[in-house]
Amino acid sequence: MAINNRKPQSLNEALRIRHDCEVIPYMGGTDVMVERDPKASFLFLGDLPELQQLTRDAEGWHLGSGLTFSSLLAEEDCPDLLREAVSRIASPAIRNLGTIGGNICNASPAGDTLPVLLLYDTDLVLKSLKGERRVSLDAFIVSRKHIDLRSDELLVDIIMKPKAYNHFYYEKIGSRRAMSISKIAMAAAAEIQKGTVADFAISFASMYKTPLRFKDLEETVKGKSLDSLEAMKQDVVHAYGERLNPISDLRSTADYRKGVSLKLIGDFIDTILETFGQG
Ligand SMILES: Cc1cc2nc3c(=O)[nH]c(=O)nc-3n(C[C@H](O)[C@H](O)[C@H](O)COP(=O)(O)OP(=O)(O)OC[C@H]3O[C@@H](n4cnc5c(N)ncnc54)[C@H](O)[C@@H]3O)c2cc1C
Repeated sequence: MAINNRKPQSLNEALRIRHDCEVIPYMGGTDVMVERDPKASFLFLGDLPELQQLTRDAEGWHLGSGLTFSSLLAEEDCPDLLREAVSRIASPAIRNLGTIGGNICNASPAGDTLPVLLLYDTDLVLKSLKGERRVSLDAFIVSRKHIDLRSDELLVDIIMKPKAYNHFYYEKIGSRRAMSISKIAMAAAAEIQKGTVADFAISFASMYKTPLRFKDLEETVKGKSLDSLEAMKQDVVHAYGERLNPISDLRSTADYRKGVSLKLIGDFIDTILETFGQG
């Protein structure tokens, strides 16, 4: 069956079509085409050079929403933690098509880039013919598959804020190593300065209907010495245990998700102590 597909040559043309017509925007199509509505009209954005750049300035990293996972992996400036998460997504074929913007707008609980983006307090730039709007990723993903996107808007820019993290951790638990949707994905990072935890952040995907981060729990660790971090490790894990209330679905159970994620938090703390501790 033929697909009703519009293929603009520029972002402005895409915004005009988005404004005038009822179309579903798409880039790689690796989500949208899986359950394609045969009656829908589509707007293909995957060829627009305006959406495929990665630049860096005082605001942070600007990732064009149309950057594919493969092109991100090829970018020298791609933040290391994002590179790690992206390298674990699906297979080369999917990484050649799938985009970071599609991962965000699909708003799946299992979007693997989302926990990394949350650690960088990422903002999104949404554009329409009327102008631009900037929202935090946190606010943009309202619920499972539900985003704060107006019918005339497109996601154009993804801004990862600068961070001084000097320790990184990423773990994806799936049924197998490749081509596997996460049962749990955890991204974490810390900044350790002169034996003190200057920054500490943990975020999850596949645990809840939206990606999760508990900034108040992170605050309880900031400013602590590494000795204190070692002493409070079980308390930190316990505090996360009180807050994590995972989903059960076809991929995993709530009990499994909770048990494993608490082990990962302990493991993250151990890696900090091993890397920066005296012993
Ligand atoms: C076999 C397979 C394996 C997969 N494995 C993984 C995995 O391991 N980890 C993972 O996270 N994901 C995985 N996915 C899901 C998918 O590949 C990713 O979510 C990918 O990032 C989607 O990007 P895309 O460009 O293909 O999105 P598309 O399918 O093009 O679009 C996804 C959604 O975003 C909207 N959209 C796209 N572009 C814009 C825009 N500029 N503005 C506004 N809305 C927009 C679309 O309307 C749609 O709702 C897998 C998919 C398949 C088919």
